[in-house]
Amino acid sequence: MKSWATVANNSDFSIYNIPFGICRKNDYTFVASRIGDEVIDLSKVANQGTFDHLGIDSKVLSSNFLNGFIAQGKAVTNGVRTALQKQLTDKDSILNKDKSPFIHISEVEVLLPVDIRDYTDFYSSIEHATNVGKMFRDPENALLPNWRHIPVGYHGRASSVIVSGKNIHRPIGQTKPADGPPVFGPSQRLDFELEMGFIIGKPTEVGCRVPTAEAESHIFGLALFNDWSARDIQKWEYVPLGPFLGKNFASSLGAWIVTMEALEPFKVAGPVQNPAVLPYLEYRGERNYDIKLEVSIITPDGSEKIVSKSNFKYMYWNMMQQLAHHTVNGCNINIGDLMASGTISGKDQSSYGSMLEISWAGKNPIEMPDGTFRKFINDGDTVVMRGYAQKGEMRVGLGEVRTKVLPVKS
Ligand code: MN
Repeated sequence: MKSWATVANNSDFSIYNIPFGICRKNDYTFVASRIGDEVIDLSKVANQGTFDHLGIDSKVLSSNFLNGFIAQGKAVTNGVRTALQKQLTDKDSILNKDKSPFIHISEVEVLLPVDIRDYTDFYSSIEHATNVGKMFRDPENALLPNWRHIPVGYHGRASSVIVSGKNIHRPIGQTKPADGPPVFGPSQRLDFELEMGFIIGKPTEVGCRVPTAEAESHIFGLALFNDWSARDIQKWEYVPLGPFLGKNFASSLGAWIVTMEALEPFKVAGPVQNPAVLPYLEYRGERNYDIKLEVSIITPDGSEKIVSKSNFKYMYWNMMQQLAHHTVNGCNINIGDLMASGTISGKDQSSYGSMLEISWAGKNPIEMPDGTFRKFINDGDTVVMRGYAQKGEMRVGLGEVRTKVLPVKS
């Protein structure tokens, strides 16, 4: 496929992608897609008649969130994507004749794409779980007994999910120094977690289960996700009920939701699961995705260092298993629910998905281009995560999730 629109060879937003997001210009908010550095106002494309054959309720295209659009179902949302690809490759298309739906990315505000009611975070990278187990528990028995049997997860906080580009403040809280009583103050161990999030596209009723074979039909698409973590707060509070204030102060979501259809060509086999999983977690086919991921830290002087290169394909538990497990007790899911992979770590330090692992709990600080060292994230640092899949000329990227850390809010 070749588009008449201008797209750089290394753009994440090629004709093969056509993701969805929400943009605002001059107080008008609209459902957008993106090609190269241009966003496409889909409410204006609808006015050109391009989506008439899909029977789409056009109100959903001038909305503050994608939820209404997603609720139209995959036949419509993927129909919109396919119709856009047709318009963008046909030189004689209406869109090529009337380019009024195009706006340069620099001229719009990109908003949180989804109204998220519930957020669940998994813990599905065996490398990450092993590293954390070695550091915090037992180097000999790093994985807890349940880990290879259950896609372990917890319920996170949806209210503090923010879109890429928004700054966060360093959290403050209660921590426990090794050699003294608990203290209160700014977190000294602010960390990122490199994750992928997936957005639920088809709801279920309470009491219903989603089998692995049907799970993909319930997923609208994927976005980059930085699950911010305050390790010192987390370490003191997490026993016995798990993550709380060390996690829920902020999580950053990429602005563009890349559809399952766009990612279909990049499916690969996942790791062999041993011991065999229980029948409700069995799955068929290739259910992991070869998506290259990286994390950069930009120091206050503006210099940037890539601190990790990982890949979504490393996940031990795939999204189909996560969703089957999440719903096996009858827990229902809603359109716009966010589920995240858990930190995506590879085999060695160059591919670890958190500073906790990269600096091995602060024992091995890494040097930055400005000569300073990092165990964790400093005030004034910006953390940028990027991800893309590529096969021949097909490049489908997730863009970036970028967040600057400001000092504790006064
Ligand atoms: Mn996490």
